[in-house]
Amino acid sequence: METQLKAYQVQGYDNGVLVFATNGATARRKGANELDEEFQDIEFCRRAHWADEYASTGHVPIRAYLDNGWWITCGGCGRVVDQDRIDDGDDCGGDPMAPVIVGAWIYCTSSCHDREVAIDKDRHDTEIATRAEAEAKFPGCTVARYYVLADMEARIPTVDLSVPGLQRTAQWRRGEDYVRVVEEDIEAFDRYRAKYKEAA
Ligand SMILES: [Zn+2]
Repeated sequence: METQLKAYQVQGYDNGVLVFATNGATARRKGANELDEEFQDIEFCRRAHWADEYASTGHVPIRAYLDNGWWITCGGCGRVVDQDRIDDGDDCGGDPMAPVIVGAWIYCTSSCHDREVAIDKDRHDTEIATRAEAEAKFPGCTVARYYVLADMEARIPTVDLSVPGLQRTAQWRRGEDYVRVVEEDIEAFDRYRAKYKEAA
């Protein structure tokens, strides 16, 4: 029985994946799983000899995918990036395609990457500010969890607060002057508030 891991390209309806397996049937099953498609819907499963050298780590560098004719979507705008488009200098919102590779991600241009970095920074800054605001607004409470709540079109920075004396966490949505607590905690929250008012 063959036990050596080999690389296979498993092609589904829209996308393909590279998997490592000891034989084709296993590769096809693994690929179908990763693509979230049915085993019988896989278009083809073929050996990808070029990637065998990565079998031991399972990590294939982005550059190697491009060199072997694969396309990858830009982590910022979702554009298709492949070697032909890079060679042609395809237009990417005014800049010619010239990818920036960061770890497992590829960006079509440096400005697309810069934009993504700015969005990430903004997201991070919002979290820091929201956490600080919550703890200043509700003294003695600590932020148990931060997340962004989707409410229709709005994205609301939200925290779950651990409030002294409460069974469960209270929810505070940035911009609101009140918190949401479970019914059993209403009295406890009133006590917390009364105590805080006395101290203030
Ligand atoms: Zn892009």
